[in-house]
Amino acid sequence: MNPPYNVLNPPKRCAAGHPLGTEPGCHWCGARTRAGTPCQCPAMRGRRRCALHGGKSTGARTPEGRERARMANYRHGEYTKEAKAERRRQAEILRLARECLAEIIKASREV
Ligand SMILES: [Zn+2]
Repeated sequence: MNPPYNVLNPPKRCAAGHPLGTEPGCHWCGARTRAGTPCQCPAMRGRRRCALHGGKSTGARTPEGRERARMANYRHGEYTKEAKAERRRQAEILRLARECLAEIIKASREV
């Protein structure tokens, strides 16, 4: 159980002081607890997690750390910005080629 959350007296306001769930910027932590249930602590001010679940974290700061975080879930590169752009470019070429071919066929039938 998470010490800041009292089951018998749950918080009525988020960390920013807004009444429960009324402001778009105020959040409940929602991190998955060891019991598998969402954490119900108010998130830290301006953050989406409570202090126990990463709300204090500043994230990766150094270029190496940011790159490591970026690559942590990298699998095969199928969905990278570059791969998607390349598929779009190829699809566009194919579309133009089909249009061109359709015009040639149409013109040849009119003759
Ligand atoms: Zn939490």
